[in-house]
Amino acid sequence: MHFIDTHTHLYLDEFESDRHQVINRAIAKSIKRFLLPNIDAASVESMLQLCHDFPDNCFPMLGLHPTSVKEDWKLQLKEFEELLAVNPGKFIAIGEIGLDFYWDKSFEAQQLQALRTQFDWAKKLDLPVAIHTRAAFPQMLEEIAKAQDGNLKGVLHCFTGTLEEAQKAIELGFLLGIGGVLTYKKSTLPEILETIELKHLILETDAPFLPPVPYRGKRNESAYLIETALKLATIKNLSLDEIAAQTTQNANHLFKLNPL
Ligand SMILES: [Zn+2]
Repeated sequence: MHFIDTHTHLYLDEFESDRHQVINRAIAKSIKRFLLPNIDAASVESMLQLCHDFPDNCFPMLGLHPTSVKEDWKLQLKEFEELLAVNPGKFIAIGEIGLDFYWDKSFEAQQLQALRTQFDWAKKLDLPVAIHTRAAFPQMLEEIAKAQDGNLKGVLHCFTGTLEEAQKAIELGFLLGIGGVLTYKKSTLPEILETIELKHLILETDAPFLPPVPYRGKRNESAYLIETALKLATIKNLSLDEIAAQTTQNANHLFKLNPL
């Protein structure tokens, strides 16, 4: 049995002092692969360093996070476009990209432009996208629908929408990334996931953010993925083995990773 943490920021400063222990702790709990979504131009180096240290376990994505879309967004995208061109096959996805109107709407138009550009890259390079959406779900579904020509695929990371939104995303060819929110007392996700087939789901932590119960308030890490997997097993009335097998298969397929 093994799992894939499909969205984890283990290269961030929060893991500065114990990054390798964090990874080894997760591996000891059968979480064997770590898919690393990029944030901005400044995070690329530490992300690639970690992939260099753990070449069999860590896999990098490349993209500009919506909250990092500021005045210099075009320059950052240009840098990424060059990185993608000179490193064919290095990055497993375009991510994380998306729309975030929760804190700040002043770059709304630029966020939309950056998203569309990065959708184009993903389709051109035949890579999946890892999407972050906050306070922008209807717009995101609209953007995916507009971009979907049969060649766009990806995951809505940290999915927390409604059942209708889940169904719409699946219809548009997307998987749902399920993280610690599933374990929260007030979460409506457990009820929603009862009716969503396991073949549409992949697991993630979004570490160091959004820790599952019983680690709320602490730094999240990839080993805690097990808590989310256990909760999903209960909801689906399946064994942990079955959850591992199907979600791992889904992730390997989407990100085109060789089965372990
Ligand atoms: Zn993230």
